[in-house]
Amino acid sequence: MAVANAYVSHCGAFPLPSVIESIREQAAQLLGYGWPLAHVVKLAAELPKWGKDLLVHAEHNPPPATAAAPHGPSRADLIAACTVCDEYGQYERPDGRIAICKHPQVKLTAVPAA
Ligand SMILES: [Zn+2]
Repeated sequence: MAVANAYVSHCGAFPLPSVIESIREQAAQLLGYGWPLAHVVKLAAELPKWGKDLLVHAEHNPPPATAAAPHGPSRADLIAACTVCDEYGQYERPDGRIAICKHPQVKLTAVPAA
């Protein structure tokens, strides 16, 4: 998850799993608003300087207006927001085989119905 990785790599110490989880959820929310992934990753990388609340930091640092995706999240955005799959959009099934993720959580929680 690119956003959480950006946060962790700028954090110094390894943050608590609960902090990473909350940043993932907040990032999914921002991507659901159509925020560009690159901007959310940038905010996550800056976040250790400001605190632990990505939404508060985002509120003060909205993306450039022209950069918002008019057609909803891209595949990269979905992969970044998804907690099931890896950075290639794949996940390991219970039988051990690798499958292409359909990002079920992201569709339900982060991406508004078109
Ligand atoms: Zn996924």
